[in-house]
Amino acid sequence: MTKLTITNPADDSIVEEVEADTPSTVNEKAARARAAQPTWARLPLTARCDAIKKFGELMAARADDLALTTTRETGKPISQAKNELSSLQARIDFFLQQTPRVIAEKVVHSEGDLVESIAFEPLGVVANISAWNYPYFVGANVFVPALLTGNAVLYKPSEFATLTGLGIAKALHDAGIPQDVLIPVIGAGDVGAALLDCEVDGVFFTGSHATGSRVAAAVRHKMMVLQLELGGKDPAYVAADADLSRAAASTADGAFYNTGQSCCAVERIYVHEDVHDKFVEAFVKEVKSFVVGSPEDKGTYIGPLTRSAQLSVLEAQVADARSKGGQVVLGGGRLARKGNYFAPTVVTQAKSNMTIMKEESFGPVIGICKVASDEEASEKMNDTRYGLTAAVYSQSEARARQIFSRLRVGSVYWNCCDRVSPRLPWSGRGDSGMGVTLSEYGILTFTKTKAHHLRRV
Ligand code: NDP
Repeated sequence: MTKLTITNPADDSIVEEVEADTPSTVNEKAARARAAQPTWARLPLTARCDAIKKFGELMAARADDLALTTTRETGKPISQAKNELSSLQARIDFFLQQTPRVIAEKVVHSEGDLVESIAFEPLGVVANISAWNYPYFVGANVFVPALLTGNAVLYKPSEFATLTGLGIAKALHDAGIPQDVLIPVIGAGDVGAALLDCEVDGVFFTGSHATGSRVAAAVRHKMMVLQLELGGKDPAYVAADADLSRAAASTADGAFYNTGQSCCAVERIYVHEDVHDKFVEAFVKEVKSFVVGSPEDKGTYIGPLTRSAQLSVLEAQVADARSKGGQVVLGGGRLARKGNYFAPTVVTQAKSNMTIMKEESFGPVIGICKVASDEEASEKMNDTRYGLTAAVYSQSEARARQIFSRLRVGSVYWNCCDRVSPRLPWSGRGDSGMGVTLSEYGILTFTKTKAHHLRRV
């Protein structure tokens, strides 16, 4: 074992040191999961559901402590950490309600003495490599349906959300999930890489496109399921007929919630020229109202960035925008205080050739671009290698749907944004990844089908 140091991004203090895995302990864990999985899969589904239900109850009972842990290690504002935890229950409930129906054997044909049916079996042992920005959501999207469908899970929280991950694992164990069926794997990227060398039946990765590409390259020779939930550069379009004050409030929240560190954060805004100036005025007013401060204060809306390395990415994006004619109308750089703070930043006259409109920012910065028509907006919204979500603000559903039909993204929003529903599939196009979490498709993804040809004699 080696040591992993957990640092508080709000003040650079050391929160804790924890034992980290090594390649050999990761291998031992994978072998334990392999041995334990068949017994778990043979349990009646009701027993697995009971354990997950209990997990939900424990998470609710421990929510205050867990939220504080997450806030201390990631810098997520405490009210937003609590929101994430309280919304977790809806996901757990969705999986509890839907899994029995979704994985029940299905008769698809019956003719004379012949019956054809499809059964669903667990994949086996799956690796859940998770991100730090919504550690409860992105973790649970994988381990909850994976466990319910009878898989064992090697769960690697991000090194930036290690204590949160350990808290999740403890609640799962306390709820009755056997120690060898859900095994936390602790460490940084090298430990994630070691996990990929183990014999697993599926890798479910949430993280950046850069790391996702490395994951795909590492497992490309293996016959197993690979799912990649990656980043985005999600656009919003404010049409000429939009309700401007609502659009401004909604997009500002969508861009800056969680300090802009959401995979589906609004990262680019296109505004029709007829309403551009009014929208910018309303938008900047909204952003100015956001309280920047210590993430442990309950009134704080914008805290520090989780990863200090992202500060220079944002600085470079703002400098690039400035050099190409962008106007920084708010913020523009680091805040003069301890910790990873970046001022909420709004850049107008943003253009497609600026990195602020092309590369994932993953922080409290936004570029705004004026467009002359819905067609120009659609073209510009598609002008990215990512394809996670896109939003249209307009009074007309028909207009929004017309634009949606042209967009290469996995989720579309009409008069809303930055929203995830357990009932709907979550997926990306292009560099935003492959595969689906959530919805019934996000349950089936943890199963393999077995075709039954049954002749009664
Ligand atoms: P990273 O890509 O940095 O890390 C993701 C996970 O992979 C972490 O657990 C990381 O460990 C691990 N890892 C790092 N290197 C390797 C490797 N070589 N092999 C295997 N695993 C490795 O992403 P972040 O955690 O910084 O998350 C932010 C990104 O995630 C953003 O791009 C965001 O858009 C995306 N995201 C996408 C979501 C979606 O649903 N589409 C949801 C949430 C986030 P460690 O942290 O210890 O280095």
